[in-house]
Amino acid sequence: MRTVYLDNNATTQVAPEVTDAMLPFFRDLWGNPSSMHYFGGQVARHVEAAREQVAALLGADPSEIVFTSCGTESDNAAIRGAAEAAGRNVRIITSRVEHPAVLGPCRHLKEQGCDVVEIGVDADGQLNLEELRKALGAGPAVVSLMWANNETGVIFPMETIARMAKEAGGILHTDAVQAVGKIPIDLRGISVDMLSLSGHKLHAPKGIGALFIRRKTKVLPWMLGGHQERGRRAGTENVPYIVGLGRACELAAANIQEKITRVAALRDKLEAGILAACPDTRVNGDRKNRLPNTTNVSFQYIEGEAILYHLSDIGVAASSGSACTSGSLEPSRVIRAMGVPFTAAHGSIRFSLSRYNTEEEIAFVIEHMPAIVNRLRALSPFVK
Ligand code: PLP
Repeated sequence: MRTVYLDNNATTQVAPEVTDAMLPFFRDLWGNPSSMHYFGGQVARHVEAAREQVAALLGADPSEIVFTSCGTESDNAAIRGAAEAAGRNVRIITSRVEHPAVLGPCRHLKEQGCDVVEIGVDADGQLNLEELRKALGAGPAVVSLMWANNETGVIFPMETIARMAKEAGGILHTDAVQAVGKIPIDLRGISVDMLSLSGHKLHAPKGIGALFIRRKTKVLPWMLGGHQERGRRAGTENVPYIVGLGRACELAAANIQEKITRVAALRDKLEAGILAACPDTRVNGDRKNRLPNTTNVSFQYIEGEAILYHLSDIGVAASSGSACTSGSLEPSRVIRAMGVPFTAAHGSIRFSLSRYNTEEEIAFVIEHMPAIVNRLRALSPFVK
């Protein structure tokens, strides 16, 4: 059975060019970049070349890029490192729709006695800027707000957020794990202090990420030991993966507008096809400010998990907004924060595309969706 992979916000296929770039660093160039001798030392320049490739995708200086193991590490390092550097009474401002990689460290800091404010979103999943303004008005804070939401693809107005945070004297971190590589980002024009990204969301392997730290930002090192990564993140560099991340960033940057146009057209076709073929469906999230690859569709009166199961049966990989917790099917926290009605929240499905998807794959999903939905609705206690 062939796979139609529409779960690219969960993880992506490693680009063949990325694998090719990595292989020499397993086979031949396996030295330690910190070594004094030529064999190890020659590897260091490949690490620095990768740093330049990551920086170029973000409009950053290479000295502002720290390699990490994943997006979660970058988020934890930024939030905990900035909070620790700012001192005991620091306030944290975040949102109700962040990824657990951000909410986890924020809630940990709350247990340690920090004042943590979670800003709400409107029915479109857009950040409540008035709430943010009020929270910022209470004094300097560490602010962590995502660039784009993993479940709905909704893009927060980062330029406005950065301006507001700066005016209030705050430090701004953004979890851009879903945004990097999918939309153009230029940190020369936006005063974000720290930004997290993750390799496996942009066609590099799992186990590599990066944290952008703008020069002069106060953040404590989070891995103590050697002098690697300017003393911020000690530990011998994961050279093959760093090289892979660099190549993935270079590929993402190439013709980014063309890729956005093509992926958005496929996403729009999928969305329109599903809405036309299946009654009682709705799109969740701000359709004007969304990642080009993501659509979150609610199928009223049926469970997302049941739809996924039937899709999986025909080789289609997507994701539900729900998480099965302690035996009860809880609708997604993000969808609930948007106030989506109960009967729609339970049946929300996220389709997330990549540059590798084809017209034919999208047509296949549109063709098979109505039968799956009709079959499940025939069994639903909510349909009269
Ligand atoms: N932040 C967001 C918005 C994500 O979507 C994810 C992964 O799904 C993460 C952070 C965590 O990234 P990683 O899997 O690299 O730890």
